[in-house]
Amino acid sequence: MAIVGAGFAGLGMAIHLKREGRGDFAVLERADEVGGTWRANHYPGCCCDVPSHVYSYSFELNPDWTRGFAPQHEILEYLKRCSRKYGIRPHIRFGHDVEEARWNDAECRWEIRTSRGELTADVLVNAGGALSEPRDPDIPGLERFTGTSFHSAKWDHDHDLAGERVAVIGTGASAIQFVPAIQPEVGKLHLFQRTAPWVIPRFDHQITRAEHTLLRIPGMPKAVRETLYWLLESRVVGFRRPRLMKLADRVARWHLKRQVGDRELRRKLLPGYIMGCKRILISDDYYPSLTHDNVEVVTDPIAEVRERSIVTQDGTEREVDTIVFGTGFSVTKQPIAKRIRGKDGRTLDEHWATTMRAYKGTTVPGFPNFVIMTGPNTGLGHNSMVYMIESQLEYVLDCLRTVKARGARSFEVKPDAVERYNAALDRAMDGTVWTAGQCQSWYLDDTGRNTTLWPSYSYAYRRITRRFDPDAYELAA
Ligand code: NAP
Repeated sequence: MAIVGAGFAGLGMAIHLKREGRGDFAVLERADEVGGTWRANHYPGCCCDVPSHVYSYSFELNPDWTRGFAPQHEILEYLKRCSRKYGIRPHIRFGHDVEEARWNDAECRWEIRTSRGELTADVLVNAGGALSEPRDPDIPGLERFTGTSFHSAKWDHDHDLAGERVAVIGTGASAIQFVPAIQPEVGKLHLFQRTAPWVIPRFDHQITRAEHTLLRIPGMPKAVRETLYWLLESRVVGFRRPRLMKLADRVARWHLKRQVGDRELRRKLLPGYIMGCKRILISDDYYPSLTHDNVEVVTDPIAEVRERSIVTQDGTEREVDTIVFGTGFSVTKQPIAKRIRGKDGRTLDEHWATTMRAYKGTTVPGFPNFVIMTGPNTGLGHNSMVYMIESQLEYVLDCLRTVKARGARSFEVKPDAVERYNAALDRAMDGTVWTAGQCQSWYLDDTGRNTTLWPSYSYAYRRITRRFDPDAYELAA
């Protein structure tokens, strides 16, 4: 087996294979360390916006988190520790970027070309992540800019922002973490906001010694995890009934009013769409950081970038030394899809053409012995992605066991199973806040379909992935 990516999903798959006594796999990782998104993102203030105790593998709980919401370096350390503890590191080929993977139907295997040579695999697992390709904005004149610029996912720590005039473009989950971290050191911070996000309190805290003692009691980390899981899960009710979100947004309005005294600034920061339509952000220090004299929130759209400045449509020109893009990732067009060629020679990107569809977010017709971890419609806006990943892992492992037990060499999902599954998904998505919330979000693709989020309770996804369903597949000997 070849597993692409050594983040939560790829490592999780490798650990499970190892625990089943299998050693016949390689993890292809383009970077030089494990961790995926938690290795790539190390911008100042980077931390998890899901409570720590639900953000770990269920078989490797971590009672040692230092905060209610773990900082990036602790999650990265956790993943490194897991890779060592379960003996995964010898299986990882670091510095191997997958350039192309092509299905050879006659030989019934994947032929994979990487930046460091070729290999073949019976089964290909894409665990390359849905949020792994940073997206720079398409703004006129950007190429003319002579100052420093970088994306939040490629933070340049060698560049000193102290005293500089800094422009931040974007106000998503990443920006609201790094803006409070850099605000005290920069000379001037111009925050270019296209759409105001809904922000609720985080109530983060340092986990005390007493709490750590309690977490040492056998069964306690699991009980805490379960409790948090169900608290987070209850939020789905609002996502599915946008009218209820109008009640929930009172918390966010209260949070804004409490933290921002200036009426004009509050007006700029108040979102104009139904809460939940875009990812709900959580922060205790974002709003306060915007109230400082060295910060300006700019809501006029950007017209162009010049050699050393940004000009907005109202004609105002702001001189800047550095531009930081907090502009997110390519999600509905995944670059790796261009590198994977199925049975008929077409790439996954060509197969999807206008919209991404998979069966249970995992398998695609025409692409035998291929699974996508965190594939289409497996994302969550309300709970831990690790839960979804572990559900999917169970499904894939059961698939591999079933295929082996039946003496088959390949599995390929049937097109009608994919059709039926996606028709049900689209029905479930109808009327949710993501489609009816009056916003333009990256959850939706160019056709307006939500191809990223799971439309229901996460336990409903676990239910449908508990067992592999061979009837939905062609198994060939
Ligand atoms: P994002 O949520 O996609 O936010 C991108 C921001 O950039 C938005 O405010 C967007 O405005 C703005 N933008 C994009 N293109 C622009 C343009 N051409 N001109 C002006 N503004 C532009 O990206 P992100 O903040 O990096 O977060 C991405 C995802 O990563 C999150 O949703 C989350 O799933 C994940 N994340 C997770 C954590 C965690 O702790 N677990 C932390 C950070 C990120 P519009 O809203 O108008 O499009």
